[in-house]
Amino acid sequence: MNGAGHGTRPNEGFERNLSSIVGGRTAKGLERAFGIVTVRDLLYHFPRRYSNRGELTPLVGLPVGEHITVLAQVLDARERTMQRKRGSILEVRITDGTGTLALTFFNQRWRAAHLLPGRRGIFAGKVSEYRGQLQLQHPDYELFEEHEAAADPSAGAEVSARKSEDLDRAAARAYAERPVPIYPATAQFPSWTIEKAVGLALDALGPVEDPLPRSIREREGVFALGPSLELIHRPERTADWRKARDSMRFREAFELQLALLDRRRRTGLAESTPRPQRSGGLLDRFDAALPFELTGDQREACATIGAELARPHPMHRLLQGEVGSGKTLVALRAMLQTAESGGQSAMLAPTEVLAAQHYRSITETLGPDLAPEFVPVLLTSKMPAAERRRALLSIASGNSRVVVGTHALLGDKVTFYDLGLIVVDEQHRFGVEQRETLRQKGAQPHVLTMTATPIPRTVALTAFGDLEVSTIRELPPGRQGIETFAVPVLERPKWAERAWLRAAEEVGKGRQVYVVCPAISAGAREDGDAEATEGAEGPGAADAGGPDRPLASVEQTVAELRARPDYAGLRVEGLSGSMRPEQKDAVMQAFAAGEIAILVATTVIEVGVNVPNASMMIVRDADRFGISQLHQLRGRVGRGEHPGLCLLLTAAEQGSVARERIEAVAATGDGFALAEADLELRREGDILGTAQSGGRSTLRLLRVAEHGELIAHAREVAAELLEQDPTLEGAPGLWDLLRRENESGHLENLAKS
Ligand code: ADP
Ligand code: MG
Repeated sequence: MNGAGHGTRPNEGFERNLSSIVGGRTAKGLERAFGIVTVRDLLYHFPRRYSNRGELTPLVGLPVGEHITVLAQVLDARERTMQRKRGSILEVRITDGTGTLALTFFNQRWRAAHLLPGRRGIFAGKVSEYRGQLQLQHPDYELFEEHEAAADPSAGAEVSARKSEDLDRAAARAYAERPVPIYPATAQFPSWTIEKAVGLALDALGPVEDPLPRSIREREGVFALGPSLELIHRPERTADWRKARDSMRFREAFELQLALLDRRRRTGLAESTPRPQRSGGLLDRFDAALPFELTGDQREACATIGAELARPHPMHRLLQGEVGSGKTLVALRAMLQTAESGGQSAMLAPTEVLAAQHYRSITETLGPDLAPEFVPVLLTSKMPAAERRRALLSIASGNSRVVVGTHALLGDKVTFYDLGLIVVDEQHRFGVEQRETLRQKGAQPHVLTMTATPIPRTVALTAFGDLEVSTIRELPPGRQGIETFAVPVLERPKWAERAWLRAAEEVGKGRQVYVVCPAISAGAREDGDAEATEGAEGPGAADAGGPDRPLASVEQTVAELRARPDYAGLRVEGLSGSMRPEQKDAVMQAFAAGEIAILVATTVIEVGVNVPNASMMIVRDADRFGISQLHQLRGRVGRGEHPGLCLLLTAAEQGSVARERIEAVAATGDGFALAEADLELRREGDILGTAQSGGRSTLRLLRVAEHGELIAHAREVAAELLEQDPTLEGAPGLWDLLRRENESGHLENLAKS
């Protein structure tokens, strides 16, 4: 039997395979199209929106091209064969007393058996015109039961007829008010097929036990799970699905936060080696030699991290702060503290350029006194074999206490003597598995991840909800700041030319200039740079002078600049991800040494690159980059004693989203404000929804941009519950849910985006 759970235990229905319910073919199709396998999968495939059949429209003056719903009576039906093609047309005329309308059906002569003259019903469809006659082609309709006048023997025939009409009206109104769910669909799987399958699944579901404790439901005004699922899919009226959707959305936020907090609780229980600070140790010597004071935010972050390293449980902390806010210094102090008890630290950087730079700057910052005790080593996959072997040995023996590297650090051959701390720079460039691989090389090492992309609070709560967060908002004193201007090249061609003159002037003053291009050469984008690609295909793509206009490329820009008479004698070099690592490194070093005046690069220079003498940046086709990317890019200039200037060249039209993004970046230097603006300007789902698993977005009803308050509130509710009942003994359903959540990898997908 198919029906409601004879002998089934509560919630068992959710796990049922769909093939026995909707049929093998539909089940296969659902799996292929949406990765839907079980009843649960299907019932959590929520309608994207709802359309109302609409108000009842009188049949006079019908608007052509619009969807209408009419209450009418069948006048007559006529069937004829088509002249050109094989087949038949059924033409049914209906009337509501004010006018008539034709319904046409192709090759559906069987409908004539229902659409009998005199039958009343409700008809919905799009009005079209054919040879001067208004019609609905293949409308949806529902015919009313024929009311038996005889059923009410006390009433006269006339009264019965009126009553019957009233009943019809009421039924019609209910029908017209009933929202039609519109599902995310494909051509093979139109919304109504899904609707039907969902209906079957709901009917077959059987008893539902709500994992959410009643006390929380009542306090939050949340519908129970069973009714929520019923009403989100089969609402009778608009208020139904609204309430059901709000209820399901609360559940989603709550369950997510519960899972994140539970994970944080469990990792906090793990045991790891405490790495306390020793007075008179490496850290004290380092601090004593430091040529500047830490900023307040740096001090606070250092204190928190220092205390956490000393605890016998692993630290999991995210350190966020603007480019140049001195995160690396905070990380270095953590590494020194770890080294004091003999522990090693591994710093993972996303690119060779960055790893090499971190390595150099760490060695320099440590100075000739401390560096020999610390023995920093660099490990990348492109190193010569002999050098690499030496580095591996130094890591395995524990001789080297700080290791800086790229993905090469994750390799099988890399073993640590005592890995105590992992620092992940620009964490968004790494997947969770990669961090996990590195973590496995130690015994519950402490983990510090860093990001220069300010993360709005709600995003942090969602994507990094299992981490503690430290924020550095203050920049070190004496920063000159960066002025940013948008340069609309089509509207103001003279301004664009002026930008190049200005760059030459800057070089004339002994400074250096970055030029950033979205492409490497004509037709080649920066490889492996997901963000650049995202920028290119993002909302701006259509705005930038059409798809035919080639993107500014490093190759072409280098050629153009070298050919300029006023650039004669200026050394212009290109830098892109397609170059060999030693080539890249050579160019970066030459730029850092001031030998190159103008560096034309792709986004390889985006993160962390530090050349204080560079004072100006020109970004070509700036609309191809995202807000946070532009903000990161411009952080390359104004790092020294000279104020920075950043010119964002764009062909995007005024008023376009692409242009708005650029103007937002020009308008403020506050990365946190920009992150919020970014969140608003980005399309729905872009922020976390990019992490797709099995074709499904990781979040269903939650949009971090919109539901910040709900997310924060749900987190409080979840925290309160976990505090009262850490192992959820009083809520076994939630416990099961957490287990499932952990197995699904859902949380990992969130953080990966
Ligand atoms: P981030 O990694 O956050 O982008 P860095 O740690 O690379 O920033 O710091 C940028 C520059 O600022 C470095 O040259 C660093 O030595 C310097 N710096 C860091 N903290 C301070 C401070 N408190 N006062 C002055 N300079 C600082
Ligand atoms: Mg940095």
